[in-house]
Amino acid sequence: MRRWFFFLFLSVNVFANIHLAPPDFNQDGVRNIYVDFKSAHYDLSYDVVWKRTKVKSVITFFAEVEGYPIFDLVPEAKNAFLDGLPVSIGETTSPSGSKIRRVNSPVGPGLHILTLENSVKENVRYNPVSKSVSSAFWIRDLKERKFLEQYVPSNFEYDQYQMTLTISFLGIKKARQDIFTNGELTKTSPHSYRIVFPHYFTVSCPYFHTTPRGQKKKLQFDYTSINGRVIPVTVYTSWWSSPLKFKSHILNIFKELEADYGPWAHPSFLAYETLPGTGGMEHSGATQTSLGALDHEMLHSYFAKGVMPADGNAGWMDEAIASWRDYGYQRKILPDFSGSNLGKASVYQRHTDSRSYYLGREFMAYLDYRLQDVGGLKAFLKGYFEAYKHTVVTQEHFKNNLEFFSGIDFTETYNTYIWGENDPKNREPTIHPVHKKLTSRELLLLL
Ligand SMILES: [Zn+2]
Repeated sequence: MRRWFFFLFLSVNVFANIHLAPPDFNQDGVRNIYVDFKSAHYDLSYDVVWKRTKVKSVITFFAEVEGYPIFDLVPEAKNAFLDGLPVSIGETTSPSGSKIRRVNSPVGPGLHILTLENSVKENVRYNPVSKSVSSAFWIRDLKERKFLEQYVPSNFEYDQYQMTLTISFLGIKKARQDIFTNGELTKTSPHSYRIVFPHYFTVSCPYFHTTPRGQKKKLQFDYTSINGRVIPVTVYTSWWSSPLKFKSHILNIFKELEADYGPWAHPSFLAYETLPGTGGMEHSGATQTSLGALDHEMLHSYFAKGVMPADGNAGWMDEAIASWRDYGYQRKILPDFSGSNLGKASVYQRHTDSRSYYLGREFMAYLDYRLQDVGGLKAFLKGYFEAYKHTVVTQEHFKNNLEFFSGIDFTETYNTYIWGENDPKNREPTIHPVHKKLTSRELLLLL
């Protein structure tokens, strides 16, 4: 009976991740509260005549306590209503100095509905001659406020919620657009579409890119996973490259990753090839990447977008694992640094520390050495992925599981290398071969 009750409790609350949110805080004389988004419906319209991009959003959220709800949206919010009444949306600052949005009206515990509108300026380019548009929801994680909040009102990384995106092309009877996404795409009229994303997605998971029809070269094929499931794969490239070249690489990487970490955990796989040297970015079962970073980004569909980080402090683990693989899964008796504060940032931090690649892979190489009698770190990672895919985790969760798996107490290890004092030698690298820092103009060119 107890077991049965426990099971029901888990299944009802499986995506109520509010316990993973940072603590609520006082700012500007009011109580700012983190909330649990239940669903977000985004109605995105591209007016190809007037070159305007607008979003109308309906957010259903649950507040556990009384206070002023916080979320994020980089553009200004307009025409906001809370539970049917007009409300203003202000800007405030979290204790780590991060800018966020706040509903300027308190709510009581319970379910609430927030509706609001905003314009989108980032990564949109209209072609007035062909009455078409190129637009994408590109994201980045080495700087804060670079997830979905650049385009639509969003919650923070800890939250998983059902996102639906409807897209309309205004000013034309029939849209001549291609749409690339990792959600389920339906054409709802000659000029509109609907995308339903998997319910376990967080703010850094969705992939959306629209281009004038036929502008990109597309190749679709199936990959049969080791568990027998057929995975539909879409590859698309620009005029200067061939999607066929990408295909053979993808098949090899699938085989390698599935052998190491188990079956692919996403409904499909989508890859967009960008210019050599531009690095890449991972989404959930999707990536925008140069060929050189393809394997790294596909690994992230296991660690980063399969098992997902709850906050900026957990982000280092994904780059540590991916970088450990990039450098051939080395095993080291000691890491090549004496100590760091890699995972000791504010609980409010939202971006990934760019020292994660080097310090992280050295730390993973050391963990692999410590775990040599129980099959090594890869054996642990395989089990961890199997148990926690499609969930959001913290670095403490990872450490606890590592200890449970190995029977080793890693407290001192973490206190030295991850939560310790930073050796001044551990400076932020200036060049990231995989996740390059691209300028706004460079990101626009990827469209
Ligand atoms: Zn990475």
